[in-house]
Formats: sequence, C-alpha cells, structure tokens
Amino acid sequence: MAVIVETPDGLGKVLHAACSVGLVPTMGALHAGHLSLIEQAAQENEQVVVSIFVNPTQFENPSDLDRYPRQLEEDIAIVGDAGADAIYTPAAETIYPCGFGTTIQLQGSSDDWEGAARPGHFAGVATVVTILLNHVRPNRAYFGEKDFQQLAVIRQLQRDLSLPVEIIGCPTVRDADGLALSSRNVALSPAERAEALAIPRALFVMQTEAKRGNHNVAGLLTRGRAILEQAPQLNVDYLAIVEPRMLRPLEVLVPGARAIIAATIGETRLIDNVELVPSAAV
Ligand code: AMP
Repeated sequence: MAVIVETPDGLGKVLHAACSVGLVPTMGALHAGHLSLIEQAAQENEQVVVSIFVNPTQFENPSDLDRYPRQLEEDIAIVGDAGADAIYTPAAETIYPCGFGTTIQLQGSSDDWEGAARPGHFAGVATVVTILLNHVRPNRAYFGEKDFQQLAVIRQLQRDLSLPVEIIGCPTVRDADGLALSSRNVALSPAERAEALAIPRALFVMQTEAKRGNHNVAGLLTRGRAILEQAPQLNVDYLAIVEPRMLRPLEVLVPGARAIIAATIGETRLIDNVELVPSAAV
C-alpha cells in the first residue's frame, strides 16, 4: 500500500536516502496513461512517489480549474495497486506558503502553441514542477509525451537550471479507438467523442505518409487538415509540424519531428501529437 504524505517532512520519513526515487507528478483523475508512468518509474527506481496536486497557477481560466475532475479516493486505490510507495497530496499552502512570490518564466520551448493559447500556463507548470522536485528530490521524474510541449518545457527547465534530476518522457497511452487518454475525456458526450476521433486519425495518416517517405511538410499538413474538416464540430486551434526541442515549425522534416494539434469540441480542449520521424534522444 502506498503511504499518503502531505508535507516535505512526511516525505523524508518515507523515502530512504540510499534508494533511487522516481517522481510522477499528476493532477489526479488517474487513468491508464498515468499508470504507465507509475509502472515505468517502479521498474527504474527503488521507490516511487506519485504527486497529486491540482495546481491553480497553471489554469489561466478559473472555470477550467473548477471543472477539472477530482477523485482522490479512487486515485489513492489506483496508485496503491500500481506499485508506488507514496502519494504526495500537499495542500495549496504547502506548495505556495503565505508570502510566496516566485514564478519561473521560460523563453523558448514555451513560446508558441499551448504557451500562446494559455498565457501563464507554462510558468505555472515550471514553477510547480520545480517546487515538487525540491520537495521530493527524486533521481528521475516521469512525464507523458501526450503533453509534448510540457515535456519540452520541463526538459528545458532541467537544462537551464541544471536541476539534479533525469527527465524521462513516456509514450502516449491511447484508447482502443485511438483517442489519447486524458482526464478531460470524461467531459465528452458520445457524439463529441466520435468527432474527436478525427484528431488521432489525422495524426496517424500524417505519420503513415511520413513513414512512406513523404517529407513534404505542407503536403502532410494538407492531408491532416482534410481529415479534420470531416469533423465539423471540431474547432482546430492549431495543427503544426515542429522540431522536438523548442517546437519551432519546420519546413523539412528532421529526426524527432512531431505533428502537434489542439482542438476544442464543445467545452473540452484536447491536445495530441505523434512523432513523424524517429528521433535520436533530444
Ligand atoms: P495530468 O494529471 O494530466 O497533469 O498528467 C500527469 C502526467 O501524466 C503528465 O506527465 C502527462 O503528460 C501524463 N499523461 C497524461 N495522459 C497521458 C497519456 N494518455 N499517456 C501517457 N501519459 C499521459
């Protein structure tokens, strides 16, 4: 069973100095995507901490924060079964004590896409992740490729500040129909969900084309957009092909090139991405 811990001091009592520690930061409402991160962390570390903290500073829209699903009791059961040693559920005042006044503002990987659509979002993410890393002091921290720009931002944060942690990116887990698992999917009606499937369909057509040797970025985007147009309720915010480090748009494909997308259906904003060309480590 995983121990529930609410303070850095409590973590100190559970974690052994001699053991390697893996941290999986989450906002709860756990699903099989989160579980895959926890399982990978359990394979690669002697102890695993899963943090569950719905971070208010990364929600630029208060109603989005209110709507975010919360299910701590279920999450605790899920984490216990997955082989984590501790669940870190700090109170907001533990993360942001009275008088807190520091924000980490990155430039580069966070500038475009989600950064442009959600001002302040990545500053909130970078700040809370730094605090969580300082509380837990893990050897490795695990993040999903599902949130590919977030992973790029955390990698830049680690590089820029020489944070003493290894950042591990984990593959996206999808439902059988291709939709990437997300805590936000519960908000989709069956009709919305059916339309949302145009997202993975477009991405996988682009990936297949790229694998066949079509490296023409404009042509690949046209193929993807044609599929998205078949889902009229889907409001596409962006579909782009970018390099994997700073997420700059590409004119020709490079190793690690990614197709990234954000689209809104009803009230729900979904993001997804696929790799188009195999990467060396980035
Ligand atoms: P969240 O609770 O949504 O902030 O996600 C916590 C972590 O789980 C992040 O590193 C996400 O990228 C990762 N994650 C979310 N969904 C998936 C998925 N479908 N597959 C793999 N990782 C995921």
